[in-house]
Amino acid sequence: VDFSLTAEDLAFKQRLQVWLRENLPVDWRARCPDEKSWVAFQKDWDHRLAIAGWTGIWWPREFGGSEATPTQRVIYEELMAEVDAPEGLGKAGRRLLAPAIMRYGTETQKRDLLSRMLSGEDNWCQGFSEPDAGSDLASLQTRAVRNGEDYLVNGSKIWTSYAQYCNKCFLLARTDPNAEKHAGLTLLLLDMNQPGVDVRPIQQITGSTGFCQVFFTDATVPFSATLGGEGCGWEVSSYLLTHERGAAQVFARLIRVEQHLRAYAARALEAEGEEVGVARLSTEIAAARLLAYRILNTQIAGGEPGPLGSIAKLYWSEAWQRLALQGLLVAGEQGLTEVSEANDPATLADLFLYSRWATVSSGTSEVQRNIVAKRVLKLPQSG
Ligand SMILES: Cc1cc2nc3c(=O)[nH]c(=O)nc-3n(C[C@H](O)[C@H](O)[C@H](O)COP(=O)(O)OP(=O)(O)OC[C@H]3O[C@@H](n4cnc5c(N)ncnc54)[C@H](O)[C@@H]3O)c2cc1C
Repeated sequence: VDFSLTAEDLAFKQRLQVWLRENLPVDWRARCPDEKSWVAFQKDWDHRLAIAGWTGIWWPREFGGSEATPTQRVIYEELMAEVDAPEGLGKAGRRLLAPAIMRYGTETQKRDLLSRMLSGEDNWCQGFSEPDAGSDLASLQTRAVRNGEDYLVNGSKIWTSYAQYCNKCFLLARTDPNAEKHAGLTLLLLDMNQPGVDVRPIQQITGSTGFCQVFFTDATVPFSATLGGEGCGWEVSSYLLTHERGAAQVFARLIRVEQHLRAYAARALEAEGEEVGVARLSTEIAAARLLAYRILNTQIAGGEPGPLGSIAKLYWSEAWQRLALQGLLVAGEQGLTEVSEANDPATLADLFLYSRWATVSSGTSEVQRNIVAKRVLKLPQSG
């Protein structure tokens, strides 16, 4: 494998480095002591990225992107992670919904929704999971019933990331309760700013409120605001979810995990009296990075991450938890009591608590193991 960058990639990297130096205050976290200032900064950051043309750089030019290659996308995400840049509020829309609009959207949807997403006018949240439907997403119960020119939506979504800051939601709802469970679903593009939508932030073990439960009571969605048509929700959402586990996200997550671990856990790991803890940290991160390179190679060749994405996700998420736990055990009582309640981890205890999401979000570890068992190891299914 050739790990070196082309002249074009290097020029891309330098351009972004210069822009970041000029635009991202190194003390941005200190400038955001509370949620209000944190949200304002995220919005401002999204706006700056959009004006400079960095938002959606991997999108096709016809939709306002600049067709960055998979390698440049990795460079972009890695640099953003290295400088600890804000992740912004509308990333579910840009990362997941946008490719689905490009494939399934009407011409009007492509023209209007993608440009509003790029400019930061619209921030989208993902309304898929429900209190009784997570891994088994197709069993969801939120109903959308035709009423004149609209659907009336009733039900509840949960774990909806940043729903309290988003003005739009891509929502998977059941439009035909009599059809087979995958066939009766439709992806709706819902306006959050209406009376039938009640957003309730959920406090997590870290103290922050990164996601919400959202209740819909006769919320309306016009017929024209379905993506891919009625009854096609499963196909559209399956396509959309394939964009959750690309190489760029894995590299970026690894850098953020490594930086946090080095900042908060390395001292504790070194206190083991030998270098073993720190060496383990480096080895685990290096192994995960090699998995991410395999995904990148596949993507450069025009392929999808497929089950490789599951293997990488399984590995980095569990490695993160192992290392955070190890750091905490070594740090002892002091490590346990320092909880900052910030939106991002700022202490060892935060890091440990925060790492819990990793084996649940984007498919739990058990679900990833099922995928690997079925699609890589070809194990027979029981039952
Ligand atoms: C940080 C974070 C952000 C999220 N953001 C969003 C969001 O923006 N929008 C959204 O819609 N959702 C979001 N989610 C929800 C996430 O998609 C679900 O939590 C996830 O799909 C798991 O569903 P569940 O929580 O209902 O658990 P369940 O599916 O009920 O699983 C419970 C347990 O059973 C196990 N299990 C389930 N099925 C199987 C099986 N077939 N074989 C073996 N074991 C199984 C699971 O592994 C788990 O241990 C987010 C979650 C997190 C942690």
